Amino acid sequence: MPATPAWPPASTPRLFVDQGLGEGMILPLDGAQANYLGNVMRLKTGDPVRLFDDRTGEWLAEVIETAKRSVTLKLTSKLREREAVPDLWLLFAPIKKGPIDWLVEKATELGAARLQPVITQRTIVDRLNLDRLRANAIEAAEQCDRTALPELAEPVKLPALLKGWDQTRTLIFADESGGAPLIEIAKSGPTAILIGPEGGFTTEEREMIRATAGAVAVSLGPRILRAETAAAAAISAWMCLAGDWR
Ligand code: SAH
Repeated sequence: MPATPAWPPASTPRLFVDQGLGEGMILPLDGAQANYLGNVMRLKTGDPVRLFDDRTGEWLAEVIETAKRSVTLKLTSKLREREAVPDLWLLFAPIKKGPIDWLVEKATELGAARLQPVITQRTIVDRLNLDRLRANAIEAAEQCDRTALPELAEPVKLPALLKGWDQTRTLIFADESGGAPLIEIAKSGPTAILIGPEGGFTTEEREMIRATAGAVAVSLGPRILRAETAAAAAISAWMCLAGDWR
């Protein structure tokens, strides 16, 4: 691990901004971000802030003005380039509020590059709040010193996902009814892990997935895991076997 730099201090607030950043940029913030910096962290002119944009990397900024509902920052120097993340997608059947928030937070921390909700026959979640899920991913990245966010895709139905599947991307299908050991399947290169809903996959879905070029059924062991546990466990195991846990 690189030595901890003396400046800015480890306690410096860290925020994601959804726009390309550049040296010398003046960045007026309002809303929740201004409230966090101005009222929660009570920053004053000259205080440091770390910003990342999921595009260029992480920047050091300083507060140049504070007002009741706004804080203005000036970007002074680049601290880091945007990190590289392994080309691993998580395809997951939406599950209920709470567990799905945990799933998105853990998949972000563990380095999934793309989160793709997949509507299956037993998916019970009708409305998916992507804004809330994106906020979970952003908060996880802010807290875990990340400079990259997972891409959060619009939900897609399982048949449509499979019909257009690019077979150069290995589709690891976590099949609770059994499959190959992950250690035999996991290899670096474009990969997706597919996790079903609380009710699991139907037989028809299982057959459809197994018939898809590039797809392989994998067991996550002899115990049935909750969907969110299966997602975190499968990503972790893949990161260890084929990702960047070196
Ligand atoms: N209700 C189902 C379990 C669903 S668990 C049953 O009782 O059989 C939700 C999802 O987690 C599954 O669809 C699968 O993708 C994954 N999963 C859970 N445990 C697993 C295991 N031991 N092996 C492979 N996948 C698993």
